[in-house]
Amino acid sequence: MDQEVRYGRQMRILVVGAGVAGLSLALHLRQRGFAPDVIHSGAEPSHGSRGSEAALIAPPAAGVLIGLGCFDEFLATAAPMDALRILDHTGREIRTIDLARYFERYGGGFVTTRGGLHALLAERAGPVLAAVGTDRIEQDEDGVDVALSDGTERRYDLVVAADGLRSAVREQMFGPVELTFWDGRAWWFSLEPGLGLTPATTEIWGPGRFAGFYESPGATHCLLAAPAKEDDVDPVGERRDRIQTLFGDLGGPMPDVLERLPEPEAIGGDLLYDLRLDRWARGRVALIGDAAHATIPVVGLGNGMALVSSAVLASQVARADSRHLEIAWSYYIQRRKRRVDIVQDRARERFSMLSVRHRLAAWTRNEILKATSDEWFLSGWDDLLRRPI
Ligand SMILES: Cc1cc2nc3c(=O)[nH]c(=O)nc-3n(C[C@H](O)[C@H](O)[C@H](O)COP(=O)(O)OP(=O)(O)OC[C@H]3O[C@@H](n4cnc5c(N)ncnc54)[C@H](O)[C@@H]3O)c2cc1C
Repeated sequence: MDQEVRYGRQMRILVVGAGVAGLSLALHLRQRGFAPDVIHSGAEPSHGSRGSEAALIAPPAAGVLIGLGCFDEFLATAAPMDALRILDHTGREIRTIDLARYFERYGGGFVTTRGGLHALLAERAGPVLAAVGTDRIEQDEDGVDVALSDGTERRYDLVVAADGLRSAVREQMFGPVELTFWDGRAWWFSLEPGLGLTPATTEIWGPGRFAGFYESPGATHCLLAAPAKEDDVDPVGERRDRIQTLFGDLGGPMPDVLERLPEPEAIGGDLLYDLRLDRWARGRVALIGDAAHATIPVVGLGNGMALVSSAVLASQVARADSRHLEIAWSYYIQRRKRRVDIVQDRARERFSMLSVRHRLAAWTRNEILKATSDEWFLSGWDDLLRRPI
């Protein structure tokens, strides 16, 4: 048992996971003088197969990068997101939304990649213990005992699980939770620029299929989604053929994209899930990023949400001591939960619009979209962007 109370930066902290959430939390904590241990189950901190994912960095997340002192370098890897052009399955324009005018009110919006963001954070976040996971985590009133897979045992004041959608720490500390499956699958990959997209962000909303193309400096990032059952298997070697079959009838930039599809190993793929939890903390263990709040990836905001959550969590931990973590957790959840719920709701609404399967229903959706204003299309986000984080 520990009798000593540790304040602020004296607290012993373990961050499990070195994705965008874990690295940005580690960096925020280091900025405040903490020295967290960061572990990562992979061979080295990396973005895994999802480096080519487009990450949309909207105003609150861009502000977090300013605070982390890497905004100028971020700008070199990002493209401004000025407009969104939506096409129907034949490639005809449904409408173009002026995002620049909208973002002007709140700060800029940008397209970057998860890989770029990850590299920016990894360079600054301090040491990461690679190829190390957690074998056992047990907490009592005064601390958390963690047996690491490298054979060491350590005691911490708090542990933050940033180990992604299928978080093992969450499973150990909270028990099994149910992910919500959204009857679909996504693939993502990057192409050399040259699709001639104007504006640089273009989406095809077809019946039952979605294709998004997002340009960052030096590459075009593609996200494709189609209906799938939860038991769908997607062997890497068959991805190119599956994509050709499923998306071969789409117009706009799609024929060009299909001609330039990269090797199957460079195409990422996963089923579509999200996760909503009422509790993001239990005792001395808190959840962050996808471990707490995974979102259907049709709004491209998962990485941005991880950045903002890490800023908020670090600021609350900095005002806590080792005896009163529940206060830090409570403020963290109060500050983040409502905002995260809004993004998840918007993603679910967007997904239900995108996943309309019948041609008549898709045609009706497109006609409604044509008749509405940019303001209407974007209005669901105002509530989020107006709120302080
Ligand atoms: C198909 C798909 C497409 C997406 N597209 C986009 C998009 O376009 N834009 C966007 O912003 N977001 C997108 N997202 C969401 C985005 O990828 C996530 O929101 C974001 O990566 C969350 O970051 P994270 O750090 O919480 O988790 P992760 O990136 O999953 O990182 C978790 C880290 O924990 C490590 N780890 C796992 N288990 C352990 C363990 N037991 N011990 C130690 N370490 C462990 C992993 O190696 C990894 O480094 C997409 C997600 C999916 C599934």
